[in-house]
Amino acid sequence: MRAVLVESHEIAPEIRHFTFEVPDTERFSFKAGQFVSLSAPIGGRTITRAYSLASREHGNRFELCLNRVEDGLFSPFLFAMQPGDAVDLSGPLGYFHWREPARDSILVATGTGIAPFRGMLQEPLPGNAKVTLVFGVRYEPNLMYRQEFESLAASQPNFRFLPVLSRADDSWSGRRGHVQSHVLDTLGGNRDVNVYMCGMKAMVDDLRQQLKALGFDRRQIIYEKYD
Ligand SMILES: Cc1cc2nc3c(=O)[nH]c(=O)nc-3n(C[C@H](O)[C@H](O)[C@H](O)COP(=O)(O)OP(=O)(O)OC[C@H]3O[C@@H](n4cnc5c(N)ncnc54)[C@H](O)[C@@H]3O)c2cc1C
Repeated sequence: MRAVLVESHEIAPEIRHFTFEVPDTERFSFKAGQFVSLSAPIGGRTITRAYSLASREHGNRFELCLNRVEDGLFSPFLFAMQPGDAVDLSGPLGYFHWREPARDSILVATGTGIAPFRGMLQEPLPGNAKVTLVFGVRYEPNLMYRQEFESLAASQPNFRFLPVLSRADDSWSGRRGHVQSHVLDTLGGNRDVNVYMCGMKAMVDDLRQQLKALGFDRRQIIYEKYD
């Protein structure tokens, strides 16, 4: 299937939000949180990379959120795309989506690992479950979609948004450090929780280890690694 770029814009330093469209004749159906695989000929060979869907299903459009990897092959190519340019797409793929039955959940993202959670949080929150989003970035301007999450927290008593900065300056009065310790604080003694995590391997592996040591069942730990 071909996906055509509708528009892209910067939402944080070196991070862009993309809207793509597939032809009206193709029904593009997916569960929020899944990913797509994009391919293009670059430097004489076909390069393929995975990207989480950053929106819920809406018509024949979907959205992505990605950062430009310095010296990367595919992300600079996507950043250089102009509206009307097309790329090959396959998917949807993967099993990163809300689990049934609904239960209290902690969503843990670092950097562009926020992408699948943005889509999942555009759907009605599952059942009466309490959902907490712990979102870690280095600096405050990197808190992508912050206003959306703050609005959701203001309108949904079951949803909490906990931004965490690892390199905050003195003006930041919120949470600091790495997301892992804030997840453990949020859990307290509660083990009846699903923990969804998305981002780079170092964070995901570290938090998985800590949750397993606390007695979490592997089915309660749902994760997507970007590297
Ligand atoms: C299931 C899945 C979903 C993904 N979803 C997203 C997404 O929604 N947004 C997104 O930006 N990336 C996402 N990625 C990562 C993406 O597939 C690419 O790896 C990334 O864009 C780098 O590709 P590249 O060709 O530019 O770099 P390459 O030439 O492949 O260079 C790879 C280097 O970039 C590092 N890297 C990979 N991903 C990132 C990243 N996000 N930030 C910093 N360094 C990275 C790798 O560790 C490696 O060192 C996802 C990966 C997987 C497996």
